[in-house]
Amino acid sequence: MNSICLIEDELKVASFIRRGLEEQGYRVSVVENGTDGKKAVANEKFDLVILDVMLPDISGIDLCRSIRNNDTETPILMLTALNQVHDKVLGLKAGADDYLVKPFHFSELLARIEALMRRNKIKEEDHFLTFDDLKLDSWTKTAERSNKKIALTAKEYTLLELFMRNPNKILSREYIAEQVWEIGFDTGTNFIDVYVNYLRKKIEKDFKSKLIHTVIGMGYILKQDNK
Ligand code: CA
Repeated sequence: MNSICLIEDELKVASFIRRGLEEQGYRVSVVENGTDGKKAVANEKFDLVILDVMLPDISGIDLCRSIRNNDTETPILMLTALNQVHDKVLGLKAGADDYLVKPFHFSELLARIEALMRRNKIKEEDHFLTFDDLKLDSWTKTAERSNKKIALTAKEYTLLELFMRNPNKILSREYIAEQVWEIGFDTGTNFIDVYVNYLRKKIEKDFKSKLIHTVIGMGYILKQDNK
């Protein structure tokens, strides 16, 4: 379930937003001032923050900037009043992703929230490569299979990434040598087979199925066992 932190001191507005979002299946935490809002966002990873500009203690714009110092990913939607046009610009400069002017229709708020969540999901998925139950994170250079972390050396990572960018495709030893080691293939060595076997041990040994298959006389292929 997606979770939203709503930082809004006007209780009527807060309960209107909360009720509507809960009906849509969101989990909503309402916080009534900036200090508590800051704490809530630091303590929990929300999928989105709705932040009112006019708060009793801190300005929403300062709070937005302070959230962005530690967290550049969580989408922030700012709520501004009609007479605070300059706040929109300041809010966006402070790191908000979008803003909505009060009063608004709930359907408008929902549309903005859905758009921000979609955008963020695409951003997050950008750095993951997945194949079957194997997942590779190009930011941290780590692999995970069936939610179990697998440590890889730099070369193993590059080799696995090559397979995962070319699933269900036979990769020749020559091609692998060029792509991973940036060298021409020397038929006198078997280092590619050695590395593929290191990698296999890590990603297959403790798991249910094989992923990297040998194609005799041709090379290797990343594919599901039963296909
Ligand atoms: Ca307010």
